[in-house]
Amino acid sequence: MVDDCIFCRIVKGEIPCTKIFEDELVLAFLDINPWSQGHSLVIPKAHFSRLEDCPGSVLAAVAEKLPLLTQALVQATDAQGFNLLNNNGRAAGQLVDHVHFHIIPRNQGDDIIQHAPQGEYPPGRMDALAAQIRSLIR
Ligand code: 5GP
Ligand code: ZN
Repeated sequence: MVDDCIFCRIVKGEIPCTKIFEDELVLAFLDINPWSQGHSLVIPKAHFSRLEDCPGSVLAAVAEKLPLLTQALVQATDAQGFNLLNNNGRAAGQLVDHVHFHIIPRNQGDDIIQHAPQGEYPPGRMDALAAQIRSLIR
């Protein structure tokens, strides 16, 4: 636990949250400033700043609950779909440095998350980049 981490303080009960699920390893609660009704956050109770710091077993405990949580959220909000979002680093929009997954109920035309224009690779770059990535997966 990290003393100045908002989500650790929520896990400890020092800051209130509107809880939707809890077990030994995982906590899920409604986001305080939702993008849509039912926007929720799912977190491991243990503190890890970013996804790549988080052991696979902890992520597995979180992931294991996603079907259950997302189907309940979709049903409760009568949503047509949802986004699962995980921000890592300020450049990616991460504001709270305790790994968390947003579940954002979505409806056609709500314009909450827009598709950005997509790019392309110059010749050879795709293969070179993939080879570099493969060499780093150890
Ligand atoms: P991030 O930008 O780090 O991926 O998302 C952090 C999320 O945490 C934001 O959507 C923000 O509204 C939410 N949040 C921040 N502080 C609190 C809090 O004290 N309680 C709850 N329920 N949500 C919070
Ligand atoms: Zn924390």
